[in-house]
Amino acid sequence: MRIDLHCHSTASDGTDTPAELVAAAHRAGLDALAITDHDTTAGWAEAAAALPPGLRLVRGAELTCVSPDGRGGWCTIHLLAYLFDPQAEAVVAEHARTRAERRTRLHTMATRMAADGYPVDADTLLGDLPADVPAGRPHLAQALVRAGVVESVDQAFAELLHGRNHYHVPSHKTLAVDAIDMTKAAGGVTVLAHGFAHRRGPTVSAEVIGDMAAAGLDGVEVDHPDHDPEARARLRALADRHDLIVTGSSDYHGTNKTVRLGAETTDPAMLAELVSRASGAGLLVGS
Ligand code: AMP
Ligand code: FE
Ligand code: FE
Ligand code: ZN
Repeated sequence: MRIDLHCHSTASDGTDTPAELVAAAHRAGLDALAITDHDTTAGWAEAAAALPPGLRLVRGAELTCVSPDGRGGWCTIHLLAYLFDPQAEAVVAEHARTRAERRTRLHTMATRMAADGYPVDADTLLGDLPADVPAGRPHLAQALVRAGVVESVDQAFAELLHGRNHYHVPSHKTLAVDAIDMTKAAGGVTVLAHGFAHRRGPTVSAEVIGDMAAAGLDGVEVDHPDHDPEARARLRALADRHDLIVTGSSDYHGTNKTVRLGAETTDPAMLAELVSRASGAGLLVGS
């Protein structure tokens, strides 16, 4: 059994349509795949409708949240939410709010770059994105590639779009513990995404992960391309201590990233445990 529980489609900042994503998962020999677009469930129906035989689809989303970092400051964290009711009022409102904020934020980032002479136009960038698609830095990165400023999305992030220069606009996001509550109330389960991915920026302390576990977090993504062996070992130990489910996932974004589908995988027993904790388990589709 090969299971990949973190993937993006064109419903957010991936480059495969949801139908292409499930087809690619089938070709990659996966048995189960989660679709986890940022702040939207818009890809679920297309992915489910196109599901090849033998592939199971775990419906989910990735939420950008904030949390105390455990050192007196705050940091951004990503929370994977699975098998929740997509029509729950709080979920619909939170996704809509975040998507709106994403547009304003990306507009500001593009405006700042244009003011410095980069050939990007904020209105065109946002105008070309379908209204419901969660705008993200990868969209700005693609615009920079098209304009010939950089050669790849990766280069755009490394040189211009990382969180440490003045183009970057942090977002005012929901508290992680509130997102955990919201997801549970909607019948779903939550997993902390790439919790110790240091190269992405500041990460939370082990104590904070313990606090999240106490607040109802169900699992931690241990095997992720951005985790070095030490990060994986520390997260695995934390999962042991706090009785958290351990997952492994590629965080596939199509050609926006170099990682392949199924590059990291989840143990079938862990997926079974995740599903057993979700009252929205009926949202798992496929054989
Ligand atoms: P945003 O949601 O606007 O903050 O943008 C973050 C998104 O950019 C995440 O989904 C990441 O997967 C993606 N990302 C971060 N770093 C890179 C990178 N070096 N290359 C490609 N995509 C990246
Ligand atoms: Fe992304
Ligand atoms: Fe993420
Ligand atoms: Zn992701």
